[in-house]
Amino acid sequence: MRLDLATLFMMTTAVTFTVGVLFLLSWGQTRRERSLVVWGVAHLIGSFASLMLALRGQIPDSLSIGLANALMIGAYGLIWSGVRAFEGRRLRLDWALAGAALWLAACAVPAFFESLAARVSLASTLAGLYCASGALLIWRGRGEPLVSRYPALALLATYAGLYWARVPLAVTMPLPVSVAVASPWFAILCFTGTLFSVAIAFVFMALTKERAEREQRLAAETDALTGIANRRALVAVAERRLAIEPAALLLFDLDHFKTINDRYGHSVGDAALAAFCHIAAPLLPPEAVFGRMGGEEFACLLPRLDERAAARVAERIRAGVAGFAQPDYPDLRMSVSVGVAAEGQIGGSLDYLLRRADDALYRAKRAGRDRVVTCEGDPLPLAEEVSGTGLRAGRRSRMRSP
Ligand code: GH3
Ligand code: MG
Ligand code: MG
Repeated sequence: MRLDLATLFMMTTAVTFTVGVLFLLSWGQTRRERSLVVWGVAHLIGSFASLMLALRGQIPDSLSIGLANALMIGAYGLIWSGVRAFEGRRLRLDWALAGAALWLAACAVPAFFESLAARVSLASTLAGLYCASGALLIWRGRGEPLVSRYPALALLATYAGLYWARVPLAVTMPLPVSVAVASPWFAILCFTGTLFSVAIAFVFMALTKERAEREQRLAAETDALTGIANRRALVAVAERRLAIEPAALLLFDLDHFKTINDRYGHSVGDAALAAFCHIAAPLLPPEAVFGRMGGEEFACLLPRLDERAAARVAERIRAGVAGFAQPDYPDLRMSVSVGVAAEGQIGGSLDYLLRRADDALYRAKRAGRDRVVTCEGDPLPLAEEVSGTGLRAGRRSRMRSP
C-alpha cells in the first residue's frame, strides 16, 4: 500500500486535532489541571501546522514551510510549557514561543530558507530541545511518585533523540526536496508524528488521572488538621502490619486538653494538636505507623518492638511534649499520657491491642497523667520525680488529677 504525502499529513492533522479536543474536554471535566489546556492548545496548533504542511505546493512556501514549521515548533514549546504547569512551575510562554520566533527569524535569511539541511537541522534541534527539557522536568518531579511519569519521560526522551538524530543525517546526506519527500523516511516521519500525538495524549492523560486519584486517596487517608494518617488509614495499615509481624502500640491522650481550649480558644487548641504531631513524628522510628484516632487522641504502631522498647519511644515523646513552649503563649503547657501494649505473635488482633493500650492509658490518667504506662507494668514515675528537674506541665497536671 502506498499513501501519498498529503494523505499522511491530513491523517496527522485529523488525529492531532482530535487529541487536542480531547485534552480540552478532559480539562473541562474538572478544570483543575491547567496543563491539559496547554497540551490541548499545543495539539490544535500542531494539527493546523500539519494541515499547512499537507498543502505544500498549493500554498506559498512561506506558509507551508516557514509558518507551518514555526507552528510545529511552537506546539512543542507549548507541550514543554504544559509539563512545567503539571510540575507546578510557571508556564514560561515566552520560552515556549522563543523557538518559533527563532525559526521565523532564520527563515527571513534567504540562504537559510533555501537550504533543506539547515532548515531540518534548526527545526529538529529546537523540537528536540523542548522534548528533552520536558523529559528532564518530569524526571525532576519524581518526588511525587506517579508510575506514568516513566512512560512520559521515555516518550519525550525518545522523541528528543529522534529529532536530534535527524540533524547529522540532514547535514551529511542532504537530499533535494523532491527526493527527500519521495523517500520512505518522510512517510515514516509523518507516522511518527501521528504516533507522538496519540502516545503523548495517553501518557499525559494517565499522568493527570493518576495524580487526581493519588490526591483523592491521600485526602481520604489524611487527617486534615494535623496532616498525619486518620483513624481509618491507621487501622488499615496497622492491621496489615500485625498480620505479618509482632508490634507494640502506643495510645496517646493529651492531658486536660479541654482546659487549653477553654483558656486559649479552639484555634490555639487546634495548633496545639498540630504541635503535638510535630514533636512526636520525628521521635518515632521510620517504620512507625502514626495516626490520629480522633479528638486529642493519637496512636502509633511500632512494628517489631517489644513493650519495653516501645515504652522508651513513648517516654521520649512524653518528655518532648512536656518541654513544649510557645513564645506567643508563654503560660501554655502541654502534657500527654501514654498507654503501651505489645503483641509478641504474628497475626495479633488490633482491637485487642488497642483495648490493652487503652487500659494502660486509663491507669496513666489515674496515676496523675503526664506519664507512660505499660500494659504489664506499673505506671512509670515522672521524669522530674526521678531526676529532680522540675517539669511544670507534669506538676500542673497532677495538681488537677481526679
Ligand atoms: P484528660 O486529661 O482526662 O484527657 O482531659 P481532657 O480535657 O483532655 O479530656 P476530655 O475528653 O474531657 O476533652 C477532650 C477535649 O479535646 C474536648 C474537645 O473540645 C477537645 N478536642 C477534641 N478534638 C479537638 C479538635 O480537633 N480541636 C480542638 N481545638 N479541640 C479538640
Ligand atoms: Mg480523650
Ligand atoms: Mg485528653
